[in-house]
Amino acid sequence: MGLGHEDDLRRTAEGLKPPPLRDDCFALPGGVDWTPAEQALALLRDRLHVVVGRERVELSDARGRVLAAPVTARRANPPHPNTAVDGYGFAFDSLGEGDQTLPLLAGRAAAGVPYVGEVPPGHAVRVLTGAALPKGVDTVILQEDVSVGDSEIVFRAGIRPGANTRRAGEDVGEGETILAPGRVLTPADLALCAAVGVARLEVCLPLRVAIISTGDELVEAGQVPQAGKIFDANRPMLSALVRDFGYEVVDLGKVPDDRETLRRALDRGATEADVILTSGGASAGDEDHVSALLNETGAMAEWRIAIKPGRPLALGVWRGTPVFGLPGNPVAALVCALVFARPAMACLSGSGWFEPQGFDVPANFDKRKKPGRREYLRARMREGRAEVFKSEGSGRISGLSWAEGLVELPDHAAEIKPGDSVRYIPFASFLRG
Ligand code: AMP
Ligand code: MG
Repeated sequence: MGLGHEDDLRRTAEGLKPPPLRDDCFALPGGVDWTPAEQALALLRDRLHVVVGRERVELSDARGRVLAAPVTARRANPPHPNTAVDGYGFAFDSLGEGDQTLPLLAGRAAAGVPYVGEVPPGHAVRVLTGAALPKGVDTVILQEDVSVGDSEIVFRAGIRPGANTRRAGEDVGEGETILAPGRVLTPADLALCAAVGVARLEVCLPLRVAIISTGDELVEAGQVPQAGKIFDANRPMLSALVRDFGYEVVDLGKVPDDRETLRRALDRGATEADVILTSGGASAGDEDHVSALLNETGAMAEWRIAIKPGRPLALGVWRGTPVFGLPGNPVAALVCALVFARPAMACLSGSGWFEPQGFDVPANFDKRKKPGRREYLRARMREGRAEVFKSEGSGRISGLSWAEGLVELPDHAAEIKPGDSVRYIPFASFLRG
């Protein structure tokens, strides 16, 4: 079946798009008030799946893309036994006892230019790094360990069989799976693919992320602000973050606190993007239109997650497209985007759930925290210790910029003294590949 129609079948498979999310996928179990961060993350992990299609790309376009199918080696690496050094090759079994004198053949083997003919037992031939071992050669002596005469070489006893050579396939065997689906392709991955003869890769289409800022108070940096206005700080931040993750930004601008305008923006997001990130208007106030609209569709889940900073995170599905209603406050918006939207978007993008790598390091600060919620502090590493920003004020954007990562404090009560171990997650850990 399908024989002779492979191209058609492939085209169909590439055009396939998984179904949209169910409207109630973010619903929390009843009776829960403040959801522990761990439980919120587990729910996201359970309920989200890949939403993007696939395409085939050349290696030169594959950096940062998400692999959609396993990659197998078309050829072994190395493809043939070769020499790891510049030196002289011979058959180990043909050596006698003690120091060695071997007649040297004319000619040589170089990388890409093999020796023509066979090396008889008891003879040596010049070999250069990367050259395929000539027939009759299984061992190479380093040129620095050899004295070369007119037509012979001499060297000391003691070389091991197979010395200074690389076996065919010692790195990767032909047909071996080298990369698994979900992999975010790194420069090194591209070297690996090329080395085993793979020139094109099946990858996921980049996740398209719509970004909307909400609030009557917002003007663009560069505009002249009227009384009471502030500059929109979230959209430049979230757009850059999304690009850092390797996704495509669909910038839907800023929207005033007006339900119909926001409705149109969400409609656009649902057609032009795979996921929508809004900031602001996510609580339950009069001007919190993100939650109001998501509530209206019946697809709203207001997740009161027990973390600081972070007010309720509004999660919903707008016409089949997941919406993350981030808090308006830039500090909380960034923390919620990194801690919740980041791994969720990884699921949607095909790369699978994502745990940022944290490190247990000594603190150089004092801090007391209450039990019952997880806390994230703006932090950075200096001289092997984590230091935190001088203020925990949630409006202090300068502290976000000062920070190079977050200190994550556990849900239970804690009293931290300088030298105590704390969990530090560099911002770079939220990126991958
Ligand atoms: P909201 O979540 O809409 O109640 O906003 C919370 C706080 O964040 C308010 O002080 C807003 O003015 C501020 N805010 C909301 N959106 C932005 C934004 N895009 N840039 C900077 N500050 C914002
Ligand atoms: Mg607002």
